[in-house]
Amino acid sequence: MSLKKRPVGVVSLGEVPEIALKVIAAHISGYFNLSVQILPPLEHPEYAFDKRRFQYNAGIIIKAFESKRFTDYDKVIGVLNADLFIPIFTHVFGEAKQGGKFALVSMFRLGKDPDGSPSPSSLIYERVAKVALHELGHLFNLLHCREKKCLMHFSGGIQDLDETPIYLCRYCSTFFKDRLLLGSDKEESLKQPDKIPLDLFGSEERFRQ
Ligand SMILES: [Zn+2]
Ligand SMILES: [Zn+2]
Repeated sequence: MSLKKRPVGVVSLGEVPEIALKVIAAHISGYFNLSVQILPPLEHPEYAFDKRRFQYNAGIIIKAFESKRFTDYDKVIGVLNADLFIPIFTHVFGEAKQGGKFALVSMFRLGKDPDGSPSPSSLIYERVAKVALHELGHLFNLLHCREKKCLMHFSGGIQDLDETPIYLCRYCSTFFKDRLLLGSDKEESLKQPDKIPLDLFGSEERFRQ
């Protein structure tokens, strides 16, 4: 399956535990059978800080990524430890442009359980891996899935994220494999019909009821 494709790049933006990058890389290669490379770190995206919200604008960071191009890589996932938002949501765990090249994963809200107590690191890294694979799914044109037992199901909070499995349902898995086999030149023809807003594990759910 698409072994000749350029690899997926994983890059930290500012201080991120190295193990988080390794966990993401291992999951991408293990679950999606893609080659992965961890890239030299980039700077913390201070340029995207919003003084009114005390958060970082995910769209601005992705735009900055686009200007760097990363031509040796098919997809690039940036990992950071900053609170991300997109204008219509209170926060997001990750962000990706549908069918695009760049995605973000934020560890900022992944370290605590729903009751506010600190989570064990094994659980934190499982969440990081889930958000990264989910965002990568968006980059490969997957949209949100109605099936609760699917990685592409959207989540409104950390509890939803913990209940979301790390695997794709049969439908999404088939779509994903087809997408990989056909290659990016066929991207347009494979777009799923209904457009759903970009991000995922944020507070988007209430906007879609
Ligand atoms: Zn699915
Ligand atoms: Zn999503």
